[in-house]
Amino acid sequence: MMQVEITNIIDETNRVKRFELSTTDASVIEFVPGQFVQIIHPDLPEFENTRSYSISSLKSGTNKIELCIALNENGIFTPWLFQKSLGDILKISESRGEFVLKSEHLNFPIMFICTGTGIAPFRSMIHTALAAGNQDVYLIFGNRKKTDILYKSEWEILMNSNSKFHYLPVLSQESDFENLGYVHEFYSNILREIGEARIFVCGWKDMCAETRNRLKAMGYNRRQYFFEQYD
Ligand SMILES: Cc1cc2nc3c(=O)[nH]c(=O)nc-3n(C[C@H](O)[C@H](O)[C@H](O)COP(=O)(O)OP(=O)(O)OC[C@H]3O[C@@H](n4cnc5c(N)ncnc54)[C@H](O)[C@@H]3O)c2cc1C
Repeated sequence: MMQVEITNIIDETNRVKRFELSTTDASVIEFVPGQFVQIIHPDLPEFENTRSYSISSLKSGTNKIELCIALNENGIFTPWLFQKSLGDILKISESRGEFVLKSEHLNFPIMFICTGTGIAPFRSMIHTALAAGNQDVYLIFGNRKKTDILYKSEWEILMNSNSKFHYLPVLSQESDFENLGYVHEFYSNILREIGEARIFVCGWKDMCAETRNRLKAMGYNRRQYFFEQYD
């Protein structure tokens, strides 16, 4: 358990905020790309007082981490979190989770499939994969509208500066966009072309379930795909 101060809040979209959290004693936070922390709510009963949030920072080993969190107006936790201001103190867990990039994954093309805040753990994973290997890295990122795309300019800059990074935003509620619809047909088409890959999937239940079914039907197995489900 550690104590952190909210040192920056960025309104990334009208429903998503990026929270920069800094340790109050300047201690360092280590994480493996893909891991999450739990935030502890001081007024909720034990066993109901934590929610998990993927670490969206680029770099481990500093005194800061970033979380990228969507507001659920009907929820208990995020309305409380979204009322917080700069200087407020939160309690968080150590970094946790097994949904991480391992060196053996880097021998294959890597595909990241997500919707919404499911992008959070992929931010550091994408940069790590590109820095570490010679393999192509694919990001298939589903959202409703252009304005919902988190870290939008970062992906565009990376795509233009690194030929190994293939960025495919897919939008379900725009009429004028190159890739319209849901993520499924887009990653299926790419996987048919590239064959063996290591596939990471992150987001809410329905998208994860549908993706799992499709990957299984295409012959991929649990050594090749990895899921982080948000509910
Ligand atoms: C590994 C992991 C990483 C995640 N990363 C992110 C992220 O980066 N960004 C993001 O926006 N969201 C993330 N989530 C989702 C996040 O943890 C919350 O579920 C989400 O913020 C909903 O909180 P809420 O205020 O909307 O609703 P709440 O009312 O707090 O509850 C909504 C959901 O929380 C769970 N829940 C409800 N009651 C309890 C309880 N008593 N104890 C524990 N869980 C309960 C249930 O699944 C419920 O559907 C992640 C989830 C997991 C499991």
